[in-house]
Amino acid sequence: MATGTVLVTGASTGIGEATALHLKELGFDSVGAVRKEADAERLRSHGLRTVKLDVTDPGSIAAARADLGDAPLAGLVNNAGIAVAGPLEFLPLDQLRLQLEINLVGQVAVTQQFLPSLRAGQGRIVNVSSIGGRVALPLVAAYNASKFALEAVSDSLRRELYGQGVDVIVIEPGGVRTPIWRKGNELADEIQEEMPPEAERLYGRMIAGLRRETLKIEQKTGIEPREVAEIIGRALTAKRPRTRYLVGTDAKIRGPLAKVMPTRLMDRAIARQLGR
Ligand code: NDP
Repeated sequence: MATGTVLVTGASTGIGEATALHLKELGFDSVGAVRKEADAERLRSHGLRTVKLDVTDPGSIAAARADLGDAPLAGLVNNAGIAVAGPLEFLPLDQLRLQLEINLVGQVAVTQQFLPSLRAGQGRIVNVSSIGGRVALPLVAAYNASKFALEAVSDSLRRELYGQGVDVIVIEPGGVRTPIWRKGNELADEIQEEMPPEAERLYGRMIAGLRRETLKIEQKTGIEPREVAEIIGRALTAKRPRTRYLVGTDAKIRGPLAKVMPTRLMDRAIARQLGR
């Protein structure tokens, strides 16, 4: 039976919600961090503790820390995230900033606040990256940049914390069936509407190709969030956890393939898949 308190950010839906619920089943005192009261109420109805936390708001992070007090933490799962998509040539820079603010700076901000409690609990930090933190695709440069950076931050942090009893582990899922795809498409629609007509001529086919691929994940090929939650549970409980866990067949194929496949061959394969 696992023990101790674990905080999971972005616990309202998808991987975060599945993880918060699974950690409770494993025996942890699972605390779901959410932004909306309705989500907090739902999690509490499953017996979880909750805190309010927006990873982009320093006041909210400090309030969450005050809420939890200085009690030792067995784990912190940095999971909150969004997906921004659009061709870099026309991507509003504010969207790039928002992507990095939520998926990267926010994770670091939360980690900074809770590190003393993690040190006290000899706990583990689990950062939810993506196969997109290893292989960059066209039209999702902002997302890839956030996840590549999160991978680097995770390695740096693990090496900084060496000998302090706090481990840092990275989770790299492939396609998972969660609301992130719908939300990402809605945001992409908004971004696309603001682009000049030229954008459609230059990138329209590729955008349509990417939408086809994401729809496949959402409707058919994506794994269930619970599968990722179980790996996060393993990362938190294994005697000797790995530093990285690829999750899902697509990630397990694409990750190693990217290491051996010549980059230009990979460029052509991706272009073909997206209908270029
Ligand atoms: P969801 O959209 O289901 O969940 C995202 C969560 O992040 C929600 O709880 C959302 O809260 C929260 N969130 C968004 N912005 C903020 C913020 N500013 N502060 C605090 N919380 C915030 O997506 P997933 O479950 O798919 O995504 C979870 C993580 O998994 C992300 O980091 C994503 O990049 C990663 N991932 C997902 C994959 C997939 O295929 N789905 C694949 C690989 C990685 P709210 O409801 O309040 O908006």
